[in-house]
Amino acid sequence: MIRIPCPHCSARNSAEFRHVGEAAPRPDPSTATPEQWRVYLYERSNPAGWTTETWFHTMGCRRFISVERHTVTNEIRSARPVGSTGPGPAEALSARGDAGSPDAGGQA
Ligand SMILES: [Zn+2]
Repeated sequence: MIRIPCPHCSARNSAEFRHVGEAAPRPDPSTATPEQWRVYLYERSNPAGWTTETWFHTMGCRRFISVERHTVTNEIRSARPVGSTGPGPAEALSARGDAGSPDAGGQA
């Protein structure tokens, strides 16, 4: 079992999530070549090690999150809302020791 620390809901069983896949930067639609679209849509690095993935919390907040996961050990280094660079609300809760409460909010 993998426990994913959703930045909105706290740590949850991975069965609550849908694995979307490796995170890859989307090419600019106005300038991308067919080759760039092919690489974006079909090529994956599939490393045996750390990778950044997108997951969707289907049975929770119904939001996309970006997760850094080790594909061999399933250790999770970070989880944050897609597109954000700072810690998510759950990481702030975790630092305060409130991570077990899913409706704690996240205001510090
Ligand atoms: Zn969630």
